Amino acid sequence: MPQTATRRRLISLYRHLFQFFGPQHWWPARSPFEVIVGTILTQNTAWTNVEKAIAALRDARLLHPAAIDTIPQEQLARHIRPAGYYNMKAVRLKHFTHFLLTRYGGSVRRMFRGKQLELREELLGISGIGEETADSILLYAGNQPIFVVDAYTRRVLERHELIAAKMSYGEIQRLFMTHLPTDPALFNEYHALLVAVGKTYCRSTPNCKDCPLQYDLPNGSPLLPRP
Ligand code: SF4
Repeated sequence: MPQTATRRRLISLYRHLFQFFGPQHWWPARSPFEVIVGTILTQNTAWTNVEKAIAALRDARLLHPAAIDTIPQEQLARHIRPAGYYNMKAVRLKHFTHFLLTRYGGSVRRMFRGKQLELREELLGISGIGEETADSILLYAGNQPIFVVDAYTRRVLERHELIAAKMSYGEIQRLFMTHLPTDPALFNEYHALLVAVGKTYCRSTPNCKDCPLQYDLPNGSPLLPRP
């Protein structure tokens, strides 16, 4: 692993975030299948809405692959309405569960037994599952060592000039994975902490002066809101 300034900065950012926010306890769920349902439902919506949709699925005894596969799509959409984009997400849930049932007999455990990269390719082949969702499934449901990149990650790193604008998902992911130990617990916590700082301080208008990462800003002074 390279002992570079980038590595030192990435580790230092993590330590500052952890010290400030503490453990984030991701991903809150009762089973790996529920984590996967959450990764699909959380696309473009707040987690509080996802919690309501998951509670509705649980009340209706639908948090099982076979149940989601057999219920008519319109009914499934009604249950997950609080998560928004419910028709699209119902289709995506059905695509995933159909894949799980036909390829792995409905067993999440069996799905995670194979090679990480092969499973990632399979997940990316499911309609509606992109890189962030596939990697969230691998990391948070499968405890596999892969870094999840999202809009908050990109924003914080760009503002700290650790990445250039328009860097691809894969390039940002490699930055973390080549400079940090290959540790799913670290990747889990780091991503969750980036989301925490993104939601609290690094919003579209940054609040650098109260942020635990201000010390790392390139010129040492807070970013000013754009006029
Ligand atoms: S709010 Fe400012 S200091 Fe905090 S992460 Fe964003 S750019 Fe960095």
